[in-house]
Parts: sequence; C-alpha cells; structure tokens
Amino acid sequence: MRQAIDAGHGWHNKKQGVFDPGAVNGIYFEHNLNAELAHMVDAELQGYEDVRTLLIESGLLYSRDNRAASWNADQYAAIHFDSFDQTVSGTTVFTNRGKGVGSAEYVMAHRVGRALALAQGIPFRGVRQMDFAVLAGRQPDILIEVCFMSNNAELANYIAKKREVAHAIASALAHGIDSKKKEEEDDMQYDHEKVSVHLGTDAKSLAVKAAIKQLADDNGKAAVVTPTFRDSWRGWLGTKL
Ligand SMILES: [Zn+2]
Repeated sequence: MRQAIDAGHGWHNKKQGVFDPGAVNGIYFEHNLNAELAHMVDAELQGYEDVRTLLIESGLLYSRDNRAASWNADQYAAIHFDSFDQTVSGTTVFTNRGKGVGSAEYVMAHRVGRALALAQGIPFRGVRQMDFAVLAGRQPDILIEVCFMSNNAELANYIAKKREVAHAIASALAHGIDSKKKEEEDDMQYDHEKVSVHLGTDAKSLAVKAAIKQLADDNGKAAVVTPTFRDSWRGWLGTKL
C-alpha cells in the first residue's frame, strides 16, 4: 500500500516563496501542527507490513495531489486543523463532491473520522463533501480536520493526546488495505557482540529501551537504539541511550 500524507499549508502553498501558516491560535500555527502529526502518522505507518509512505510538507496547493498521483499513491490523506471560534468542537473529514456514501473515499473518511473522534473524546461531525483543490480524486483522497484549534480546550486536549491521534489515523488508513502490523520479533536481530533492536515510541518499546540501557550499563557497553521509521522522523533518529 502506498500512502501519501500531506501536511496542509506551509511553504509555497498558495504562492511560491511564501509561507502559509494556515490557522493561527496564539503561538500555534496550523501548518506546524499538521507537519508534526503527519510525521507521527508516517512513523506509525512504518510499523505496518507492505506500507510505503510519501510525506508532502510544502508545495503549491494544486500540485500536491498530482505529486501523490505521480508517486502512484493508493491513498492520499491531507492533515489539517479546523478553525472557527471557542465554541465549536469536533472532527470532520472531507471527500470531494463526487465521492458520496458507498465510495471508497467515503468509507475511508468515515473510518478515519470515527477513530479520530474516539481517540480525542470529541464529537465526529461526519463526512462532508467539498471540492478542495487537494481532493482531485486521482487516487482515493480525504482531507482530515483533526479538531478545532481555535477552541483552546480542544487544542489542549489534542496536544495531550497526539500520540493516540497519530495511532488512530495510521491504523484507520492501514485498515483500508488490510495491512498487518509487523511482528515485534521481526525487528530484533542478534549477533555475538551487539544486539540491534528497532523500537517505536509506545510504552512497551520504551520499557524495552530502558531494559537495554540497564543491560548495557551493567556490562560496560554502549547501547544504541535505532528508529523503525524513516530517517525523516527527527525525534528518534540515531537516538543514543
Ligand atoms: Zn487547513
């Protein structure tokens, strides 16, 4: 499965050489939230078999769906945060107008929306149709509005739960193509002098990392944990324990 993930807004979105932050609430720029979550979803998807990802973080709005299409994406998901005022709440997922109930887009949008609302404990406002530029329909396309970043309480709630949100989006997208989660054992290789372990950021992986560090310390050796996911995920790249 080839999944394109688009972090909405950013550099050159509306005009070459201009940064479009998207919605703004205090210190929070929508594009930065979109990009952080897109990286997290990408990292989660590396944990599935047979999933390849394309991360789109900049570029003219009208070119993004095209880039996904020329990469032969099977699915495309644009990540955005909604903005209105302090009172409005919930997750919304869009398909384009031609893709109503029963279409592959609608099914994917509904699955992602339900998972997102559940992960955040906020309402699912439903699947809506809109002819956004990025929903050109060259592959099944959806546009996700994660929550209302204009609503301070909802934004704080999202920030507290963003790992669960990334997990929810990734598993809903991967479910669409029946990709199986990799077995953890597949990621462990042993040799005489060192143990190489590729770990994620879930609680179990973190516990394993702590145990490895202890073991290495006890034996006077250095422990290095490498990321399961692609090099673009900056947080864990080459992290030395
Ligand atoms: Zn947006």
